[in-house]
Amino acid sequence: MSGEPKAVAAPSGPGLETPSSALVVAAHPDDAEFQCGATLAKWARDGALVHHLVLTDGTKGTWDPDVDPGELLERRQHEQRRAAETLGARGEVVFLGEVDGELRNTIENRARVSEVIRRLRPSVVLGHDPWKRYRLHPDHHAAGRLTVDAIVAARDPFFHREQLDAGLVPHRPDALLLFEPDTVNHLEVVAPADVETKLAALLEHRSQLETTHFYRLGDLEEGRAIEEFRTRQISLLEHGDTPGGSLAETFHVIIDQL
Ligand SMILES: [Zn+2]
Repeated sequence: MSGEPKAVAAPSGPGLETPSSALVVAAHPDDAEFQCGATLAKWARDGALVHHLVLTDGTKGTWDPDVDPGELLERRQHEQRRAAETLGARGEVVFLGEVDGELRNTIENRARVSEVIRRLRPSVVLGHDPWKRYRLHPDHHAAGRLTVDAIVAARDPFFHREQLDAGLVPHRPDALLLFEPDTVNHLEVVAPADVETKLAALLEHRSQLETTHFYRLGDLEEGRAIEEFRTRQISLLEHGDTPGGSLAETFHVIIDQL
């Protein structure tokens, strides 16, 4: 059995129309590029204003116990900004700064994510699927739940009233795209150039390649390790029978409950 999610509804068409703006809410620096980097690159290329919201500080993203957490935090924020730039994202890169591995779906954090949604007013929000089965990382579940709950809070005027008193108004996005979905019901077809942009953005997360990803590839020398990494990432995007193209990122889209 492969670990790939099963499609429950046959996705049709090449994807959504290019939104005017998109906000990706990620647990860690690099999650956005891994899960939806090609889609963000495609939309940015077609004129969408793309924003990033990164919830944790990424300070557990290393296999090296001697790394200074403060230095790693700064390095990962810098890498995330470079990656967003590489994608062509012209929007904000916001860091919530929660401790990596300890993200919680609290009322306080929901208010902070809701505030970002009300302020940036994205047409599309992208985030982790909180219903993903057998996913071990607690931050990914918490991030998904936080995103879904913050969308509800951002659209309804009686949630977090103090934000309205401060001049913000409720905001309802047109679509929520959950990435790494438990069940796929939506594909975003991307061009080979978008995949190259995604790979270039992923390579900006240099701290992760040196430890987590290259570690998993064993003792390969760096050029070979990067090539293996590229090959693996491209193979994850290959969907032979997709309408409109063979390369796509997979999502669970929610539109009718927004
Ligand atoms: Zn992550």
